[in-house]
Amino acid sequence: MNVDAGTMAPTEHGECFVLDDGGEVDLDLGNYERYLNITLTRESNITTGKIYQHVIAKERRGDYLGKTVQVVPHLTDAVQDWIERVARIPVDDTKECPDICIIELGGTVGDIESAPFIEAMRQLKRRAGKGNFAQIHVSLVPVIAGEQKTKPTQQAIRDVGRAGLVPDLIACRCDVPLETSTIEKIAMFCQVEPEQVLAVHNVHTTYHVPLLLEKQGILKTLGNILNLDAVTKSQSLVELGQRTWKEWRNLTSQQERLYETVTIALVGKYVNLHDSYLSTIKALEHSAMRCGQKLNLLWIDASDLEEETREKRPVDFHKAWHCICTAQGILVPGGFGERGIEGMIAAAKYARENKRPYLGICLGMQIAVVEFARNICGLPHAASEEVRANAVDKVVIYMPEIDKDKLGGTMRLGLRPTIFQEGSEWSRLRKMYGESSQINERHRHRYEVNPAYVERLSEKGFEFIGKDDKGERMEIIELKDHPWFVGVQFHPEYLSRVLQPSKPYLGFVAAAAGCLEKVTADCLRDYGVHGVDGVTNGLNGVRI
Ligand code: GLN
Repeated sequence: MNVDAGTMAPTEHGECFVLDDGGEVDLDLGNYERYLNITLTRESNITTGKIYQHVIAKERRGDYLGKTVQVVPHLTDAVQDWIERVARIPVDDTKECPDICIIELGGTVGDIESAPFIEAMRQLKRRAGKGNFAQIHVSLVPVIAGEQKTKPTQQAIRDVGRAGLVPDLIACRCDVPLETSTIEKIAMFCQVEPEQVLAVHNVHTTYHVPLLLEKQGILKTLGNILNLDAVTKSQSLVELGQRTWKEWRNLTSQQERLYETVTIALVGKYVNLHDSYLSTIKALEHSAMRCGQKLNLLWIDASDLEEETREKRPVDFHKAWHCICTAQGILVPGGFGERGIEGMIAAAKYARENKRPYLGICLGMQIAVVEFARNICGLPHAASEEVRANAVDKVVIYMPEIDKDKLGGTMRLGLRPTIFQEGSEWSRLRKMYGESSQINERHRHRYEVNPAYVERLSEKGFEFIGKDDKGERMEIIELKDHPWFVGVQFHPEYLSRVLQPSKPYLGFVAAAAGCLEKVTADCLRDYGVHGVDGVTNGLNGVRI
């Protein structure tokens, strides 16, 4: 019933994904943006809370003209209208309506929460008409004592069938490849042909899944169901598709042959649930692939690095520090609250002093500011207001315009410009962005670097090379005298794509792997000799 994912604990639900328009949404939308290389909006996500809010607002306006407002038809109609409206929104800058709208109906068949949505889908199938609606049912095939069990799938298909939905394809998730007899059994009991059963077993990485599906003829099967031959495709789109597919295949096959590893330490507080950092991990993976390296990620609970832990849990303390010392790069990702802050500061200090590549994302940049203020600017009590509200030197403060009383949707959110400052031509990060003077990245924060301390910090070599368009907000810091020490107030991981890794991550991983020079030269070449100004989204300005 949450209206959006912004107020949900990442430790329970995984990260909150942020869109260009500032929508705070489920992490699945990140997967779709990354895989499809498209830009979604907050409209692309419906929750029970959001759709009820929408219907209730209409009721309050009097739109229902005295009628009794009910789940069926009012809520179910609202779901369908919403989907139809969003499905017609032109894709990115093309001004063209998409040919296909993918709807993911989350949750599990039989959940009370999903019942109105299932009914809405049943009606939508009629509304769309024959040949315009394909239903793919995702089901788990567990293996018990070596035997592949089809009963859960049969039961689930029966349940949706009772609700009036009959799948066109059944995608079976399984640890191991599906046996022919399993496929036949599912086909037979679920009233489909064996070609309609897709075997989705565990593969090397998720990047191999499209190849696995293609091998099973998904394009042909889906094409037949949706009559895709009748859709006109421009020559340039077809070529783009072929090129992308070729690149994708190369990347994944190259990945299998990688033997060199790059070791990155991720110092955070939500490390028990890796999904809390999903986009961060993906951005690191994309970057490692581009550098021709296998990613070895070390998960470090920031509080394990703190002095207190040395006494209480010495084994954890030494283990964590061993990871820091052996990692080729140290990453402090975004986060909220107090726990683990001192551990993150210690990690940033280690990276700075030992010239180890460092990337600070949002909170990670604020951490770097506190560390530098304390240890270089002679402000031993420097702190962030988020952690110590009455600190003497608040080097990170609450942003003035942020509502202190309301938590939902009140942060500084979404795509915003960062201007590289004059004199920052030396910046390694700026080069990664093709020497651009402006970039746009997504934000999600309440606190910012205190402008009152900027001069003192810069005097000592803490360079604020990127600011917002008014020059008020600090967006990027970088140390000159260091192989790669970068902090960004934004979250570049949200715009990372498989074939176009996020630049701050790519530079960081390349520095850690010892190939920054080559990767920088490649980036500069991608942008054209001396860079392109006004890059739209940190992705070489390319939007597909
Ligand atoms: N807690 C910090 C802030 O609100 C950092 C947020 C983040 O890392 N996303 O500014």
